[in-house]
Amino acid sequence: MTRYLPTPPPNPPLEAVPFWEWCKKRELRFQQCANCGRCRHHPAPYCRFCLSPECVWVPAPDEAELFSYTVVHNAVSEELRPFVPYNIAIVAFPSLNVRLISNVIDLAPEELRIGMPLRLTWQECSDGTPLPLFLGKTVTP
Ligand SMILES: [Zn+2]
Repeated sequence: MTRYLPTPPPNPPLEAVPFWEWCKKRELRFQQCANCGRCRHHPAPYCRFCLSPECVWVPAPDEAELFSYTVVHNAVSEELRPFVPYNIAIVAFPSLNVRLISNVIDLAPEELRIGMPLRLTWQECSDGTPLPLFLGKTVTP
């Protein structure tokens, strides 16, 4: 399989560093407020519900679902031009009530369906950073 997105991600903000450290171990984890228990993503320095700065990082399940998506037909950079059309997917983890922006890498745009089951996979970008991406073909509802 060819690399879906060739460029390394930009440097993350400080509160997102643990997210990427878990990704380097190929573990997708989300921040969970240690006070009220709600999960959040993108990482933030405090809970938007109860304002607690305390959090833990909880593992995400491998199974998720496609909440929404868009299909990019005009690449924003030369590096992405070979990959159009590609999708940008909002992937939901209902058990944690969080969503992640990612890509579904094994389906053509016309095969994507909102609500379809997805499975987490990992693919390293050019600097070796594993990115959490998603498969839709091999998942049975
Ligand atoms: Zn909270």
